[in-house]
Amino acid sequence: MENPIRLLYLLQKYDHKLMDLEEEKGDLPGIVRNLSDQLKELQSQIDELQTNINLHITTSEKSTLDAEALSDRVESLKKQLYEVRNNKEYDAITKEINDAENNITQKLVNADEHESKQNELQSSLNDLKEKHESIENDLDERQSELQSVSKIHEEEELQLQHERDKIARQLSPDTIAVYDRIRSAKDGKAVVPIKRGACGGCYKTVPPQLNLLLRKNDEIRFCENCGRILIAEEIAAEVNKVA
Ligand SMILES: [Zn+2]
Repeated sequence: MENPIRLLYLLQKYDHKLMDLEEEKGDLPGIVRNLSDQLKELQSQIDELQTNINLHITTSEKSTLDAEALSDRVESLKKQLYEVRNNKEYDAITKEINDAENNITQKLVNADEHESKQNELQSSLNDLKEKHESIENDLDERQSELQSVSKIHEEEELQLQHERDKIARQLSPDTIAVYDRIRSAKDGKAVVPIKRGACGGCYKTVPPQLNLLLRKNDEIRFCENCGRILIAEEIAAEVNKVA
């Protein structure tokens, strides 16, 4: 089993190289992610609006159909008026006609209201769809840009990733977890060499006995001040020579 500190330092070298490659892609990955998020958000707004519009259409159609049915009823009631035998019957039918006609007016007003609401929403929907299309075009463009930039580095990236994985496989998951945690907390620098008796991360002096232990011991030790993993200067120099 190889010295885990040496391996971690090597791992970090590859991580830095991979990060540099990522940086060469510039803002593109972020822009692509941002545009994709915007598209998703817009699509859900469009879906919601469409559901709403459909509801207004259905309600408007239902009211129109109701009004038509009532009109038919009025027509037939009007015919019945010719056949009435007494005033009471005449009054009853006249009342029903009046009620139905009022109802028809209400239904038609209701249908109109829903139709104008639907038209209003339809115009918002068109705006959203237009926006969606323009972002989609933008995203397509940025994505192909990113693809061509990535393609240039693809082989190098694969190679580095492969080497990195080979090193990572020699380390325990716990060790990698510690490394990852410090790396994300300390701006990518988890393992630092001791330089002139001080931590290479925070420049605080390291106790001489710790420095000695690091030179012969395989155990992972941390800077008491910044919490980074320390590596002896000579071992770091060796790693720097190979990678
Ligand atoms: Zn430190």
